[in-house]
Amino acid sequence: MTVPVRVVFLGPPGAGKGTQAKQLAEHFEVPHVASGDLFRKHQVENTELGQLAKRYMERGELVPDGVTISMVLERLQEPDAANGYILDGFPRTLEQARALDKALAEHQRSIDRTPLLQVDTEELVRRLAGRWLCSKCQRPYHEVTAPPKEKGICDVCGGELMQRADDQPDVVRKRLQTYEEQTAPLVGYYKEQGKLRTVNGDQAIEDVGRDLISAMME
Ligand code: ADP
Ligand code: ADP
Ligand code: ZN
Repeated sequence: MTVPVRVVFLGPPGAGKGTQAKQLAEHFEVPHVASGDLFRKHQVENTELGQLAKRYMERGELVPDGVTISMVLERLQEPDAANGYILDGFPRTLEQARALDKALAEHQRSIDRTPLLQVDTEELVRRLAGRWLCSKCQRPYHEVTAPPKEKGICDVCGGELMQRADDQPDVVRKRLQTYEEQTAPLVGYYKEQGKLRTVNGDQAIEDVGRDLISAMME
């Protein structure tokens, strides 16, 4: 393997997937594909899929596999993803992981690496409670650990920052439970394939980024 370009980020809500995936995507010059961002875009555009997804997202539950798989696989067929991508938030169930592997195998391709960001639960809750998201480009910020240069404004695109309704503590608890029940089994799935790389996500953002790049090249 030369450069690992087809990457799946694993880790619970708040682990830093979005933060790190954006940086890694720039590093490897491939698109960052985040299923949560795609669903939020559908909601802003008020599409049928957006309305359906909203009902699950506001409860901290997963959107059904069928529509989720179609949405992401379609995105991966766009020309900018021909040479690779950083997936963030997908797959989240074994059914999604198998569908992704199957779609890739049809083109003699496969996922190269699945980094897992490990962070303990208390820290996850703290991170999500202080998370702000750019309403335009969906870049994550944190009021304490990763503040924007100018309050309320995205450093990169100038968009207005907002907080997610599902980052409220009661929905966060449900999302963490959903992760344990439905997404954590993916760790074993990718470990068996020899693709899992575990990284300590409870460090400064730059240090996580450095460890990630070295873990990915192993
Ligand atoms: P995820 O995509 O896994 O849910 P995010 O990348 O959105 O996670 O990060 C969750 C929150 O934690 C955001 O507010 C982000 O700014 C902040 N954050 C990300 N990485 C770190 C870190 N290493 N240390 C402290 N805060 C972080
Ligand atoms: P986080 O970055 O905090 O983990 P996301 O933005 O990835 O959160 O996801 C927000 C919500 O969108 C999830 O709680 C879920 O309702 C829905 N969602 C995102 N990705 C998927 C997926 N692959 N399968 C099912 N639902 C998803
Ligand atoms: Zn922005």
